Amino acid sequence: MPIATVNPATGETLRTYEAMGEEEIERRLQLAEATFRTYRTTGFEERARLLRQAADLLEEDLEELGALVTTEMGKPVAQSRAEAAKCAKAMRWYADRAASLLADEEPDAADVKDSGASRALVRYRPLGPVLAVMPWNFPLWQVMRFAAPALMAGNVGLLKHASNVPGTALYLEDLFHRAGFPEGCFQTLLIGSAAVDGVLRDERVRAATLTGSEPAGRAVAATSGEMIKKTVLELGGSDPFVVMPSADLDRAVRVAVTARTQNAGQSCIAAKRFIVHEAVYGAFTERFAEGMRALRMGDPMDEETDVGPLSSEQGVRDLEELVQDAVRGGARVLCGGERPGGPGWYYPPTVLAGITRDMRVHREEAFGPVATVYRADDLDEAVLIANDSDFGLSSNVWTQDDAEVDRFVRDLEAGGVYVNGMTASHPAFPFGGVKRSGYGRELSGHGIREFCNITTVWHG
Ligand code: NDP
Repeated sequence: MPIATVNPATGETLRTYEAMGEEEIERRLQLAEATFRTYRTTGFEERARLLRQAADLLEEDLEELGALVTTEMGKPVAQSRAEAAKCAKAMRWYADRAASLLADEEPDAADVKDSGASRALVRYRPLGPVLAVMPWNFPLWQVMRFAAPALMAGNVGLLKHASNVPGTALYLEDLFHRAGFPEGCFQTLLIGSAAVDGVLRDERVRAATLTGSEPAGRAVAATSGEMIKKTVLELGGSDPFVVMPSADLDRAVRVAVTARTQNAGQSCIAAKRFIVHEAVYGAFTERFAEGMRALRMGDPMDEETDVGPLSSEQGVRDLEELVQDAVRGGARVLCGGERPGGPGWYYPPTVLAGITRDMRVHREEAFGPVATVYRADDLDEAVLIANDSDFGLSSNVWTQDDAEVDRFVRDLEAGGVYVNGMTASHPAFPFGGVKRSGYGRELSGHGIREFCNITTVWHG
């Protein structure tokens, strides 16, 4: 895939970039290592000052940046601006809290004594240059939720962004630079995915984080395993959205529509499989399809647009094939299901019912505004269907019954259970999955500690 800005609303190539060659990569790796040697000795206050400065600059750029993101990957421009604003919030969250999240820990006095120590503590030290392989769907947020904690912990970052968002990748490098971070604290590597392996094998790169597809995750994890390097993987999801009879149906329907179509459905934590108790199946499904049909699909630069184009032609083709496979297998199309004519990579909000286990859409991640609905006889069956997935990122359950909530929290195989609401990341909560959705956690104290050398300091 060439490194280029191609407008998904028109298919027009606006700018192509030359990939960095070996010499330039080497220069940047050297700079990362050299910068780390000094940056690691800075204090939390200094790092926080720089990160707050970057947050202020980012907020000043909101309009322009929103337009850049929308031009590169197609999400409605209001959503692009909101994504940028969320980044500023996370930057300040880590600027304010990193010192306490990474404060020295004192083990229990009795244990210290038992070990024969006069004193002992645990210190969180940085690891070094961390490679971040990132996707295009939230091209600012996915990067920032790595970068903000990494920089606060004293690490330095190397970003290999998706090939279709080079403008955003270069903006981020420039942002940290303008904020006053030493050159080398955060660098963008304009490289294709084939060049990732070489960078990962370089001894100067100490760890890696990847958000993206399963194959990409597997490739990065395999090389990192060979090199004995820590990784965090945030891969795909096919999150269940379970609706029980006691649910507030109005809200559940409204949130279901948003949860499936935000970012044109290209979100790992989007609700994708709607599992509805038979007592409310008819009412929910009808209103859900109605809500999906009512969305305005169109130019993502138009403030009134709900659903923009998908990010790439390949993305539309993949989604179309998933739907066609389901229809061939007997699925019913309750709305959408037909790609419109004309330019741009549009696919309409679509609801499929009558899903069976042999359909690809049951197993694979539908990375676009395509929902599948399932009927469940009771809670046990709802849990069975929800867990019948290779993925385990997050989950949504709608019920007013506390006993049911307890069962879902006990039994759903996912990194999150959101009760009467949709999954959304927040700096304070750990984010990540189980099964093939990956491992490790981003955000919160858990996220910032992933790339730390957790050091025991023992005094005799
Ligand atoms: P990819 O996983 O291919 O891309 C994500 C990042 O990984 C990009 O920077 C990409 O670089 C890089 N990459 C791809 N292959 C490798 C590799 N073998 N080694 C190292 N790095 C690699 O996602 P796609 O854009 O192709 O989307 C395909 C599917 O992935 C989607 O339909 C969706 O199911 C899933 N996905 C999930 C995301 C999530 O948020 N969890 C985000 C994006 C995609 P390059 O762009 O240069 O190929």
